[in-house]
Amino acid sequence: MKQILNFINGEFVTTKKQFEKRTPVNNSLIGMVHEAGQGEVNAAVEAARAALKGPWGKMTVVERTDILNKVADEIIRRFDEFVKAECADTGKPESLASHLDIPRGAANFKIFADVIKNAPTEFFEMATPDGRGALNYAVRRPVGVVGVVCPWNLPLLLMTWKVGPALACGNTVVVKPSEETPSTATLLGEVMNACGVPKGVYNVVHGFGPNSAGEFLTSHQGVNAITFTGETRTGEVIMKAAATGSRPVSLEMGGKNPAIVFADANLDIAIESTLRSCFANSGQVCLGTERVYVERPLFDNFVVALKKGAEELKIGAPSESNVNMGPLVSQEHRNKVLSYYKKAVEEGATVITGGGIPKMAGDLNEGAWVEPTIWVGLDDSSTIAREEVFGPCTLIMPFDNENEVIERANSTTYGLAASIYTQDITRAHRVAGQMEVGLVWVNSWFLRDLRTPFGGAKQSGIGREGGVHSLEFYTELKNICVKL
Ligand code: NAD
Repeated sequence: MKQILNFINGEFVTTKKQFEKRTPVNNSLIGMVHEAGQGEVNAAVEAARAALKGPWGKMTVVERTDILNKVADEIIRRFDEFVKAECADTGKPESLASHLDIPRGAANFKIFADVIKNAPTEFFEMATPDGRGALNYAVRRPVGVVGVVCPWNLPLLLMTWKVGPALACGNTVVVKPSEETPSTATLLGEVMNACGVPKGVYNVVHGFGPNSAGEFLTSHQGVNAITFTGETRTGEVIMKAAATGSRPVSLEMGGKNPAIVFADANLDIAIESTLRSCFANSGQVCLGTERVYVERPLFDNFVVALKKGAEELKIGAPSESNVNMGPLVSQEHRNKVLSYYKKAVEEGATVITGGGIPKMAGDLNEGAWVEPTIWVGLDDSSTIAREEVFGPCTLIMPFDNENEVIERANSTTYGLAASIYTQDITRAHRVAGQMEVGLVWVNSWFLRDLRTPFGGAKQSGIGREGGVHSLEFYTELKNICVKL
């Protein structure tokens, strides 16, 4: 049986308490995860603190970033192992992991190595009453030990999105992967050792949230800053933990993202893009579209075309060819998604397609599959228009004018992302400017330049990551004033 271990101070660490990791593809057991207790979390934080004072803390930016470039290259060299591990944990198609999760996981080390080498700071020359003047300049210093708490939907990608800039800035990290997806974070430990990352710089502790590794890590006073991606409710708990010791948090949280399709939109582009935004990764993408507003003249055609596209999706195991949809991450998450499928019908939705569990062959029948699902016939007050489902499903609603749709799209406590489809460029800018979100795509979705700010407004997040914005969180900017 595969043992999925903690990685502390450069070594793989077993514990007495273990939990099962089953693949959602067919529910078979793929490994035993060694859960970190308070002792292991303490050891990981102590190792990370010590590493700040060791060779890592003394390296030049060039030395550090050379190592991070090696880490990226080593992930690519072991590409297939990473793909297999990610797909076994999540059930996602290998085609998706090979073009998104793993390449982006590697790219996150390269991009932030470049960012830190090229980021300028401020300089101000200042007059003083004695006429001699003073010079002010700012320098960046690492924050210290960063606690990194991760979700399960894009495990390596979202973890390295934090670990890449944290390490580039000279910090050390203790990562708590999701209990659902422990494998690639552990594999990355091997990569770190192979690339000469000093011991204690990158640590991994496995376990759950409350009364487990997540809580032990976020409440540990040796952790200087906490970066989190996951549900809004969990983010609020972590923010409270961070308040003790006045530690900064970066929170990437849930969404209930709208797409707005105007009648003048290019229908093919809108359908192709919305199919991805609703169903990619089985709808388990924080940026995914769960509400589609379509201008009334286009409504019927749009519903027919999206239904056709959803019904053409090939559902299957990760390694099957041409598969574009896998299972949900777990049986537990499937139960949650199916409860929303039920609730939608109870509240009066018309099911355009899906709504249940697909028939799968052989042992796949034991997996956490659900059908891609489209509803119409409910309004903004319905449960599925308000709550994040995080599954392959969307509610399509008609609208009649621009002001109305802006107000409706914004009528949510979340504020992560929005997509707008129109060929009227002036309208695109006008509407984009009024969306209460952190990210707007026009005639596209999930098109990411990693130098741009990423994060959510309202209850979708606090802070921005990406490019120089990540440096704001992962460094302390210090002003040095020199009297001449
Ligand atoms: P989750 O909040 O259940 O778990 C995230 C992580 O927090 C896990 O590692 C979990 O073990 C840990 N955790 C749970 N309780 C904790 C506690 N009390 N203290 C410390 N750690 C704790 O989220 P999830 O189900 O893994 O991920 C899905 C959610 O993530 C969705 O809401 C999705 O929208 C969101 N998400 C947001 C973004 C973004 O960039 N905004 C990206 C991906 C996912």
